[in-house]
Amino acid sequence: MASKFIDVREYTVRAHKRQIHTRVFQFVCKECNDLTKRETFGPRPLYCERCRPPQPPKKSQPASHKAKPRAMSYKSDIDLN
Ligand SMILES: [Zn+2]
Repeated sequence: MASKFIDVREYTVRAHKRQIHTRVFQFVCKECNDLTKRETFGPRPLYCERCRPPQPPKKSQPASHKAKPRAMSYKSDIDLN
């Protein structure tokens, strides 16, 4: 097979929807070292379902933007002298 290098220009991909599929990975769990299978959308998982149970899909709940306590210096209007 012939091969050659071509220049690929940089380009931006527009936002779009794409259908992705799960894959079943067979791997050794990092925690219990058991050979296991796991179906995932993403990259190869590291842990089996016993060690890391699948999380329910996160619901888009408004993130709590509570003000963090921070150090403040208060000035008193009352002059103690
Ligand atoms: Zn495990």
